[in-house]
Amino acid sequence: MSMVQSPDIVANLHHVEERIAAACARVGRERREVTLVAVSKTRSLEEMVAAYRVGVRHLGENRIEEAETKIPVLRPVFAGDPVTWHMIGHVQSRKARPVAELCDMVHSVDSLPLAMRLDRYAGEMGKRLPILLEINVSGEESKYGFPAWDQDRCASFRAQVGALAKLAHLEVRGLMTMAPVAADPELARHVFRRLRELRDVLRQHAPFATWPELSMGMTDDYEVAIEEGATIVRVGRAIFGGTLSGPSTYQEQLNR
Ligand SMILES: *Cc1c(COP(=O)(O)O)cnc(C)c1O
Repeated sequence: MSMVQSPDIVANLHHVEERIAAACARVGRERREVTLVAVSKTRSLEEMVAAYRVGVRHLGENRIEEAETKIPVLRPVFAGDPVTWHMIGHVQSRKARPVAELCDMVHSVDSLPLAMRLDRYAGEMGKRLPILLEINVSGEESKYGFPAWDQDRCASFRAQVGALAKLAHLEVRGLMTMAPVAADPELARHVFRRLRELRDVLRQHAPFATWPELSMGMTDDYEVAIEEGATIVRVGRAIFGGTLSGPSTYQEQLNR
């Protein structure tokens, strides 16, 4: 693998780190409570190696087809100090097997049938797969996730929680959400708050659901997410470069 000059990634990562630390400090949290996942979708292997060289140990991909071309190549490169590979994008049921095989954590489990498939394949591979349940708390139609934007939908989600937690080869670690794309990160705040509140309600109803992780916040809103309790932020453009903000460009990037 060729050496690349990566002054931008170095500077960008430094900048993101400073902002994460400042957001933690504002709300009295420790920096180590927040895991930074560098979202490497559409990025080259060289850019990913460059990020690794400056200390990134969590990488996130949103399409299994792309992850299948990258993870097997990079795993041996990173073998000395392994990366944790996060699947953060929608998983189609027919792709559950490679996801269970290749990924170390799946953020985007959005239905009981998908969870049951991942459980089956993880079992066949003799592994216990850490997962997050993706929740749609905003009611935006374009979003994946268990619907939970009103009382009835929250109740029907809660009714499935026992079955999800019982799957022997999955380890539910918490919840994930995506805020609607908006120019002002403050608009995402109530979405993040609702995800945290939903987790707190679940803890009361289901003692097994300690579910410490909250995966929320991306380039445009990770600082607000940290203020609202995020334990995992998923940051792509702020680390690897690319257009900052601008809904249309952004949606294109998500769909790529
Ligand atoms: C692309 C993507 C991100 C990162 O987006 P940026 O705005 O580039 O930080 C986070 N989460 C998911 C699910 C994504 O698809």
